[in-house]
Amino acid sequence: MSLIVQKFGGTSVANTERIFNVADIVTNTYKKGNDVVVVVSAQGDTTDDFIEKAQAINPNASKREMDMLLSAGEQISASLLAMAIEKLGYPVVSLLGWQAGFSTSSTYGSARIKRVNPDRIQKELDKKNIVIVTGFQGVNRYDDMTTLGRGGSDTSAVAIASVMHADLCQIYTDVEGVFTADPRKVPNAKKLNVISYDEMLELATLGAQVLNNRSVEMAKKYNVELEVLSSLTQVPGTIVKEETKMEKMLISGIAKDNDVARISIIGVPDKPGLAFKIFSKLAAKKVNVDVILQSVGRDNTKDISFTIPQCMMQDAIEVSNQFVDVVGASSVVYDENVSKVSIVGAGMETHPGVAAAMFESLFEANINIQMISTSEIKISVLIAREDADKAVTTIHNKFFGEE
Ligand code: ADP
Ligand code: ASP
Ligand code: MG
Repeated sequence: MSLIVQKFGGTSVANTERIFNVADIVTNTYKKGNDVVVVVSAQGDTTDDFIEKAQAINPNASKREMDMLLSAGEQISASLLAMAIEKLGYPVVSLLGWQAGFSTSSTYGSARIKRVNPDRIQKELDKKNIVIVTGFQGVNRYDDMTTLGRGGSDTSAVAIASVMHADLCQIYTDVEGVFTADPRKVPNAKKLNVISYDEMLELATLGAQVLNNRSVEMAKKYNVELEVLSSLTQVPGTIVKEETKMEKMLISGIAKDNDVARISIIGVPDKPGLAFKIFSKLAAKKVNVDVILQSVGRDNTKDISFTIPQCMMQDAIEVSNQFVDVVGASSVVYDENVSKVSIVGAGMETHPGVAAAMFESLFEANINIQMISTSEIKISVLIAREDADKAVTTIHNKFFGEE
């Protein structure tokens, strides 16, 4: 007998028909003699709708009350799915995050899972129940509801799989697996049979929302093998696992992130200590800086550019303006209409020419590169937002061929 964790995303439980479809998947797994723990997200666009409702009432609502609201979405799916499974005649119980033992840090809206105490889940499994757990939530040390950040149900599932040493952790979603690019944007994207944790972590962090990046981080840390698959078709999905014994793909995928903004500080005096000064000030304001570019000094000045998440724009501009005044730089310019497009692949480490091929495809499409950043297994470029979709397609064609 095996323990199987199955997570179903919002589209998979969006309406009555879909809930019964999920109930079928779950009960078929149970019928084969497995213990089954199910993690669910909120139905369809429920979380977005809740955010909109809150905005209409109080745009400055406290994060505590936001979590009180947002955590309700998963409760609806969990109870409805339990009712569907009851109707099919199987023993089932639904549990909220705190009942399932999820303790988190106290940061509302982006809490981190600190511990999962699986006693209650285990007790229910011992009673032969199918156990349904609300994803995306837990409870903090004040006994308040917390949520894990958007897409956090993936992490809930991986956390249960890791503490309970599950034999399989399946992430059911609305596409058939992890593709070489978002299959909704690039129709000839190809499904990957397998991808390493490291590559998946990069793709998820660089904008491929199919898996939440924290879930991949946790899966890697605790060696939880994941399968990403569709709840709507019966075909094998993508396995995410350790790289050993896997043929290294030159490029495994292309991702796009629109949640970026660029700030440039122009005319910074060309002397030691100024990069330290600006980035320590940004860090003190908790601004997450991503790509950094500093020009070569000329006429005793240089320019420093960096990218940040959109929501940190105001803080970053404020810090930069103060810096300009203090050190006597010329000005701050910023651009919110940018995107980061990245290619990820473990094989690029040992194959020269990957960056050149990527840049060539952008040149052929007449797309200007504003910034570049690289690591062993990824190359990212910052470009104008309006060019981003075209960039993804043209880079995809370069590496994977046109249809
Ligand atoms: P769920 O609600 O099941 O968690 P998400 O919407 O969070 O689903 O993630 C699935 C979506 O991720 C897909 O519908 C697809 O548009 C998008 N996506 C982006 N990049 C990729 C990729 N490389 N492979 C597969 N899907 C991707
Ligand atoms: N319902 C939450 C969200 O929309 C969590 C999730 O779907 O994983 O972000
Ligand atoms: Mg998701």
